[in-house]
Amino acid sequence: MAYPRSSQPLFAGAGVSRQYVISIVKCYKGSRMSDAEKKRIQQLREEIRRHDWLYYVQASPEISDRRYDELMDELKALEAANPELITPDSPTQRVGGEPVGGFETVEHAEAMLSIDNTYNADELRAFDARIRKVLGQGVAFHYVVEPKIDGVAVSLLYEDGTLTLAATRGDGRRGDNITANTKAIRAIPLCLHGGGFPARLFVTGEIYWPRKEFDACNERRAAEGLEMFKNPRNGTAGTLKQLDPKVVAERRLDFRAYGFRAEPEWQVERVTQVVNKVKGFGIPVNEMTPCGGLDEVNAEIDRWSRRRAELDYEIDGVVIKVDEIAIREALGRTSRYPRWCIAYKYETERAETVLRSVDFQVGRLGTITPVAHFDPVALGGTTVSSASLHNFDQVERLDLRVGDTVMVEKAGEIIPQVVEVLRESRPGDAQPIAPPQTCPACGAKTSRDAGGVYLRCVNPECSAQIRERLRFFAGRDQMDIDTLGPAVIDQLVTRGLVKHFADIYALRKEEIAGLERMGEKSAENLLAAIEESKSRGPARLLAAMGIRHVGGRVAEVLIGHYEGIDALAAASQEELTEIDEVGPVIAATVCEFFASDAGRETIARLKNAGVKMSVEKRRQADEANLPLVGKTVVVTGTLEGFSRREAQDAIKMAGGKVASSVSKKTDFVVAGDNPGSKAKTARELGVETIDCQEFLKRIGRS
Ligand SMILES: [Zn+2]
Repeated sequence: MAYPRSSQPLFAGAGVSRQYVISIVKCYKGSRMSDAEKKRIQQLREEIRRHDWLYYVQASPEISDRRYDELMDELKALEAANPELITPDSPTQRVGGEPVGGFETVEHAEAMLSIDNTYNADELRAFDARIRKVLGQGVAFHYVVEPKIDGVAVSLLYEDGTLTLAATRGDGRRGDNITANTKAIRAIPLCLHGGGFPARLFVTGEIYWPRKEFDACNERRAAEGLEMFKNPRNGTAGTLKQLDPKVVAERRLDFRAYGFRAEPEWQVERVTQVVNKVKGFGIPVNEMTPCGGLDEVNAEIDRWSRRRAELDYEIDGVVIKVDEIAIREALGRTSRYPRWCIAYKYETERAETVLRSVDFQVGRLGTITPVAHFDPVALGGTTVSSASLHNFDQVERLDLRVGDTVMVEKAGEIIPQVVEVLRESRPGDAQPIAPPQTCPACGAKTSRDAGGVYLRCVNPECSAQIRERLRFFAGRDQMDIDTLGPAVIDQLVTRGLVKHFADIYALRKEEIAGLERMGEKSAENLLAAIEESKSRGPARLLAAMGIRHVGGRVAEVLIGHYEGIDALAAASQEELTEIDEVGPVIAATVCEFFASDAGRETIARLKNAGVKMSVEKRRQADEANLPLVGKTVVVTGTLEGFSRREAQDAIKMAGGKVASSVSKKTDFVVAGDNPGSKAKTARELGVETIDCQEFLKRIGRS
């Protein structure tokens, strides 16, 4: 096989530490064992490549992520001590480069065509009939069926076995050169393995974001108060546009190849034979099933449709291709599509409508989001008439204009999206959408983010921001004041009764009772709910204040450390940085908040109102008797009778620790309805999975 097991045992054992590595390097230096160093560097590179191959091509890793990181650290240390030995194809060079300034356009050696779509069995039969008609009777051929992964198409060029160019599809003829970012994706080998590869090897495939990694990234972003990616495909596209390959590396994208060119000297007749060659070079290849005829193809379509929900990646259909290379050539292509392949798309909720207007909403941090309003359409059992456009890059990417006919899509539980503009239907008077120069709520001048994607209102007294901050403060995961709904908040802010979320604790009954659709009784209920919110505890209070980068998770970590807002406010930036999970950015923002007049005033006012600012310590003896002491628990899916937050609180109350992803350290996973990839990971790792009823038992509530 291409990657034999390493013949020599590694001299650094399984538990090698960074210090140990450094001492090894020093020892090398001292004795000038440069041959030994050279050999070890080679050995490590080979070993790391083999583990990449085991992980991505064979899907059977032999070592833990941690051990992998240790090998990488050792290699980095050795290379740092011997910079002259660094080669561009070393695994350390995946993120070797500095951030790039932009993407150069490159011409594809061969056009990257898109694939024609079908949506039902009749259309598929017509495709098959067309082929048979062109070929004439008696010509036998086979199909291959493969999943249509929902990611970003890319073409790779290996010259003399080394990856030299990676480009996006672009318009099919020209795309962006994304080589630096592609190198940061571990699944894509920097150099081919084995021998027998052609001088120039072209491969096309899909870069995609595995759900597990996508979810983990979104959880981190949520914890840091950053905007979440709406789906893996858009997230992948956004990631590949990053100027810094380090960001790409962190997000752990994956890759599967599906397009290959057969070299004449291979003397192969079918593409499935080429696949074996390419796999042997160390490139991960999409799963492909050979099929004799349409019946088998249809069975495959059903099989993938059933598997769809369990896959660790998103697919939107399958691709059906003719396997015989000579027949592919005979069929040729139309101006847009190859004639020898077709995509069978699974149903999504898609509809055409006309964009009537775009308005701009201001978020609690001042971010201005364009929102599309269109003629109402039925999608997934509901009527939809608006959708967020996320940011102005998106508007530009779609080249969206008011008056355009657009395609709106709703897939699964995802909120509706404007996915496409039907350019051929554009009326002559369609209006471009310009980013607003002033805030639509308060009229202050807007400014662009450093990154350039987001437009913001930076006026701290902006009424829209006050409203959004109060909504957030009262939200379910924060102070959870459920009777303080959007209609009431709107009125409180418009009437000037609330200029800051702390103002709600000073509201008087007659002020509330004076609001529209608010009687004496509801006013009392609202006041009682506001009163009750004072006891939510410092972690939720800290999160509710909406300090940038301080979401629920970070707030818990900080309060877990300081046990109260006052102690936290007194901490220095250096102290904060030393806490696990708190980086310099969070530390700086927290310090800045507590040092600012606005921050101090907020705290003083909340304290005066009697909002609980510190944790009451449980007696140690009581703590040790809690049912989940020492247990790490992961929750996935919808639990009956619990919000996600409530389930997490219940685990903590019972003395347990909540983790966001499943690992071998997880004691058990609580899986509710529609569990996601976490349940699958648990199965794979052999971690115990329990249902809601068993969960209640374990926290002593059954
Ligand atoms: Zn404003």
